[in-house]
Amino acid sequence: MIQFAEACELIFTNSQRLGAEERPIEDAVGYILARDVVSPINVTPFRNSAMDGFAVKSEWLQDCGKSHPAVIPLGATSYAGDCASDDGADVCAMKVMTGARVSNRFDAVVPFEETEYDENEVRFFKPTSPGKHIREAGEDIVQGQKLFAEGATLGRLDVGILATIGLRRVSVYRKPSIAIIGTGDELTSPGEKLTGDRIYDSNTFAILSLVAPFCDQVDRICQVHDRKDDLLKVLDLQHDVIVTSGGVSAGERDLVIEMAESCGWQRVFHKVDIKPGKPVYFATRDRQVMFGLPGNPLSATVTAAVFLIPALKMMSGWTDYRLNPKSAVLASGEIRKPKRKLIWPGFITEEAGRTIARYSPKKSSAALTALLGTDGLIIQDVVNGTPANITVGTIPWNDILN
Ligand code: AMP
Ligand code: MG
Repeated sequence: MIQFAEACELIFTNSQRLGAEERPIEDAVGYILARDVVSPINVTPFRNSAMDGFAVKSEWLQDCGKSHPAVIPLGATSYAGDCASDDGADVCAMKVMTGARVSNRFDAVVPFEETEYDENEVRFFKPTSPGKHIREAGEDIVQGQKLFAEGATLGRLDVGILATIGLRRVSVYRKPSIAIIGTGDELTSPGEKLTGDRIYDSNTFAILSLVAPFCDQVDRICQVHDRKDDLLKVLDLQHDVIVTSGGVSAGERDLVIEMAESCGWQRVFHKVDIKPGKPVYFATRDRQVMFGLPGNPLSATVTAAVFLIPALKMMSGWTDYRLNPKSAVLASGEIRKPKRKLIWPGFITEEAGRTIARYSPKKSSAALTALLGTDGLIIQDVVNGTPANITVGTIPWNDILN
């Protein structure tokens, strides 16, 4: 049996970041960029108007006022998307719509509503200044500008920025494909009637909902019987990650490990000195990894949270994939005396400038309701004697699940 920290390290050293792929920008949210994103163009690409109005030279209006407007002849009109011609008389305004090119002959745009005009001329009633209502080429983004660095997570606010520089696809690290396999003759699918001494399969759903954001293809395979042939079929799948629940303990029908190793999986470890989750098994096969999670529902969820999710993050290009427990004081009367490192759901609060941890009151590894309303996981080392205060590690669910 190995210690928790060693198990985490063994998982990371035996898992590999997957390669890069090009994804459509709208399907790349939540993925990690595999390359810097550098703008191939200026945004906007050309000098254009920020208003519907008249393009002028500011010096033409410098002496005008309410009672003595500047009267300027009106030339051509430029619409957004037009390649408007650049020629015109020396002193001659141009009608421009928002987004239309503004020739270098002009240095300002005056909005329609600040003028009076007819087909031939425009009256301006106040001076303007150079650059007013003109968007210069590259004003927002300059060609060659680095917008995102390799390793950054692409967020929902970023997709529009990729589109504005003309990218249709973006290079990101691939997320793993995963098969989630529920083993056990006693399992019934939720939605079906319970008969005999059966129970509902909660684990495959619990694991699915934990890992879905970190995976690409997710296949949930439930009710795999504790029979060698049935197990062999699913353990031989080609997904990047195979996760099983159940069948890794000492029961007479706990055949998962034997069958995994008969189809090429190489054991990295079996059993970790933690509670819950002691029977957890981890193996590799070429570039594939396998997690044999215990069947007890709370054990399956806790081991998925502390072993599986960090590995999935690492495989899909995250750099801060490791658990990062923050220390807290265990509330008085909460000390438990497990024989193994305890990783239990609980409540984490700030009280008088200190972080206080309290365990969920449920104490069984089978009780999924130990998770209800909790803030995260509390990690407690084995304690000797009866210390007044002990320090524990806390990891909010938010840090694990996001
Ligand atoms: P095992 O490790 O296969 O002996 O399973 C340990 C306990 O977890 C048993 O009580 C099983 O019935 C239960 N169990 C196994 N798989 C699941 C599952 N998918 N959903 C809910 N409970 C399960
Ligand atoms: Mg079983």
